[in-house]
Amino acid sequence: MVDSLSMSLGEQIRLKCPNLRCRRILSVPAHTRGKVVRCKHCQTLLRVPAPAPPSAAEPSGRS
Ligand SMILES: [Zn+2]
Repeated sequence: MVDSLSMSLGEQIRLKCPNLRCRRILSVPAHTRGKVVRCKHCQTLLRVPAPAPPSAAEPSGRS
């Protein structure tokens, strides 16, 4: 009866845990982009990469 709920949770992002002793693939909801989530295997905090802004004008003053 509630099976349809789990199908409509939205996009998931897959990340690899940065902990070299863990390195598990984590699936996190898309709404956590740009936020910090915790690996449920090793408790390491990792940052979910945010999508690139559409018009991010990169300052080209790097000499
Ligand atoms: Zn981990």
